[in-house]
Amino acid sequence: MLTHLECTRCGDRYPADRPQSVCPNDAGVLYARYDLDKIKRSFSPARLAGRAPTMWRYDAVLPEADPVTLGEGFTPMLPSREYPNVFIKDEGLNPTGSFKARGLSACVTMARRFGLKKLAIPSAGNAAGALAAYAAAAALEAHIFMPKDVPSANRIECDYYGAHVTLVDGLISDCARKVAELKDSESWKKDGWFDVSTTKEPYRVEGKKTMGYEVAEQLGWTMPQGIIYPTGGGVGLLGMWKAFEEMQVLGWIGRERPKMITVQSSGCAPIVKAWDEGKSAAEMWPNAGTLAAGLRVPKPYADYLILDILKKSKGTAVTATDEEILDATRHWAKVEGIFAAPEGAACLVAYRKLRASGFFKPEDTVVLFNTGSGLKYLDVLDAHVERVLLPAQPAQPAKPATRQIGGIIGPY
Ligand SMILES: [Zn+2]
Repeated sequence: MLTHLECTRCGDRYPADRPQSVCPNDAGVLYARYDLDKIKRSFSPARLAGRAPTMWRYDAVLPEADPVTLGEGFTPMLPSREYPNVFIKDEGLNPTGSFKARGLSACVTMARRFGLKKLAIPSAGNAAGALAAYAAAAALEAHIFMPKDVPSANRIECDYYGAHVTLVDGLISDCARKVAELKDSESWKKDGWFDVSTTKEPYRVEGKKTMGYEVAEQLGWTMPQGIIYPTGGGVGLLGMWKAFEEMQVLGWIGRERPKMITVQSSGCAPIVKAWDEGKSAAEMWPNAGTLAAGLRVPKPYADYLILDILKKSKGTAVTATDEEILDATRHWAKVEGIFAAPEGAACLVAYRKLRASGFFKPEDTVVLFNTGSGLKYLDVLDAHVERVLLPAQPAQPAKPATRQIGGIIGPY
């Protein structure tokens, strides 16, 4: 049912039967397009009953291929113990402990179908682990370029999955430059290399869009009033919005849409800044630093799409400080029983702010995305425990006071 790829900038169409990156005209992000009218005639939500609880239950709206799957997707939609009408979509239960599993499952599925061999990715953390795992499952090579101060779990899991890891002294944008340099090498075309960077190939968005289908299915094919989403590269935001548009054409939902809310760390908030200034693209955020490694994206490639979605959905963009994020991580753990990734807990900070400002009312149904498990951030979170709970302890010589963790700017 996949008919072609379409540029999100100029609308030009490209064939979907071979690997594609971005639009050759204007470097726009390419979206996979389907014959939705045909799907509408042959598939309906009723046919989802009894299907496997993974994202591939929606294979009617995904590319036809033998999936490389580890059981990703269909994560719990947990009602908040604290706020009636708030739900926490717990993506920490995915394989590799984060929502990145969805995008990389779809992406590696297509890479294998196209006969690609070596998949390169710049990653601030969890995408690296997910690529490494799915590449291992597909018997493909993963080549990972990560900032040297990523949470150690990400580095260690990549090692165990057998990926080729290059630690880069810099940010994800510096890692992306390393991958770009590789593209000029002779081996790139000859040896089946492919760049699976965020929004530089069309299928990670397809995997992530299943979050939108799940939100609808798990809320009984109704739309919430709001979705709060921690936005680094923004693939999930793009994917969910795309899912809602597809579902409307399919007749599964109506015209209603949730307000889409971006939350970013105040140490790296290019989308919030652009939103506040009414701009349609983001500027590179200088000296990006936050313990929420997944939010350290100084300029998302799909900035123009993210800002357009915020506008179309009558949403907004909010920041959270690292202190607020840590406090929310602890609060969620204690009150909800959810040990969240700091990026996910940032949603709670945003929700509180939007309730206080009257943007959301108590009766509004709002879905907060916990994008990963706190277990992948033990070094980052444990550093905080040492600082807060043991302030009177003399400095331990075994742990230097200048230890740099997760890009936090602070007295560690
Ligand atoms: Zn284009």
